Amino acid sequence: MTAGTLVQNPPAETPPPCMNLLDADEFRLRGHQVINLIADYWCRMGDYPVRPNVTPGFLRDELPTNAPPMAEPDAWDSALQDIRDLILPGMTHWQSPRHFAHFPASSSTAGALGEALIAGINVVPFTWAASPAAAELEMVVVDWLGKALHLPESLLFAGGGGGTLLGTSCEAILCTLVAARDRKLAEVGWRSIGDLVVYCSDQTHFSFRKAARIAGIQRGHVREIPTSLHDMFALSPAALKAAMQADVDAGLIPLFLCATVGTTQTTAVDPIRGLCAVAATHGVWVHVDAAYAGSALVCPEFCHVVDGVEAVDSFSMNAHKWLLANNDCCALWVKKPAALVAALGTEQEYILKDAGAEGHDVVDYKDWTMTLTRRFRALKLWLVLRCYGVEGLRGHIRSHVRMAATFEELVRDDARFEVVTDRHFALVCFRLLSTDRLGGEKKVNELNRRLLEEVNAATLGPYMSAANAGGIYMLRCAVGSTLTEERHVREAWKVVQEQATSLLRKMQTVRV
Ligand code: PLP
Repeated sequence: MTAGTLVQNPPAETPPPCMNLLDADEFRLRGHQVINLIADYWCRMGDYPVRPNVTPGFLRDELPTNAPPMAEPDAWDSALQDIRDLILPGMTHWQSPRHFAHFPASSSTAGALGEALIAGINVVPFTWAASPAAAELEMVVVDWLGKALHLPESLLFAGGGGGTLLGTSCEAILCTLVAARDRKLAEVGWRSIGDLVVYCSDQTHFSFRKAARIAGIQRGHVREIPTSLHDMFALSPAALKAAMQADVDAGLIPLFLCATVGTTQTTAVDPIRGLCAVAATHGVWVHVDAAYAGSALVCPEFCHVVDGVEAVDSFSMNAHKWLLANNDCCALWVKKPAALVAALGTEQEYILKDAGAEGHDVVDYKDWTMTLTRRFRALKLWLVLRCYGVEGLRGHIRSHVRMAATFEELVRDDARFEVVTDRHFALVCFRLLSTDRLGGEKKVNELNRRLLEEVNAATLGPYMSAANAGGIYMLRCAVGSTLTEERHVREAWKVVQEQATSLLRKMQTVRV
């Protein structure tokens, strides 16, 4: 091959490229169409069943197997029509006011338009120099959010710590675990990696086990400490202490505790103060995963759930779950950013060298995470905080908590049901009790599994999910969609009651 053959000119017959790649007029025109489509979707949200009535392959069968070789003549119009006709009807509508499953993927005008701005401006703020305003806005906005959530100053830039905006809690947990690992290995010697042990409860999100694998922690060295209904599925400091002591006695090295405020299944709250006291005796890094419940900390009345948080090493929450910041926006704060940078920082490549920033108190965020390419998430969060204000966010959280309390009351008023776990935030975990005394827990679980199926099968009914903690199967009603109003909660409960009545009647008929 000669040097000349490396540069391939397009064949002479290739048509000219589309000229509207970044054309302002085209953008204005299409932008209005897209915004209208989204606005219409929001207006019609209540008309869609939360989950589509489709079977696997429904969309793949409709679409061509190859991308069009040439731009389609009416690409925009036909694609927008396909979104209306094929895509939207085939979606689970996370923004539906009747979506009560999982945790919310909260959405707002500021969050959605923030995403549009991020895409339109499209910078890559990996270093300060790569986009100075983006780097500095991120530093400002994580301190704003940290203060709004009443986090201790030691986690903020203002107090010697600092924060960053990542995509997900999975990333936050992995990055902090790697920072803790390297800090510990620097102290005890790099050959000891096989002796490191990490701790969590049996309710901790699976992302922690995944992170431990990626970080090179031996599979048998993840201690999942059992919890029970008696403790409302919270991690017990005494059990943690015993587990750590047993490891130390066996010559192993306790490294990291992932505590959770608002577990995925039942929103259990691990007692941070007691856990930190245990961890401190072994020099263990404590991370708090508050992916869902962190948003509630904007309200002073919820701050008791993080009692003792001054002692943690790092803290993360998803502003895209319940704080109106649209996917994705996970805020991570660390007390000692140097530990993150020591583990994840790279010697600056020549092209990233930045004489202007050297010696200044600014951040190269590529050194705080795994990726080089990053999104300008700060812009969106800044917009959300400015447009709604801390008081507005409090109102948003409180309205969901109030609606969840209403749902809880409705459950308690019906003697056929029980609320299984304490409601801390806006999730109610409940179940139908069996009228049949035979069959035990297994039978009650089966009854509730069937109930959930029936509830979710109701056209225009609610969509809920399930938890199974301590062998107890329960239905989860997570209030958190931006569009949910009290009437949706009351209607959802009516569907649950109706389906329960019908299920119990069917069972009685079978028995007779
Ligand atoms: N931690 C908790 C407590 C969660 O509930 C979730 C997801 O629901 C996660 C972590 C994972 O979050 P992400 O999808 O942002 O990684």
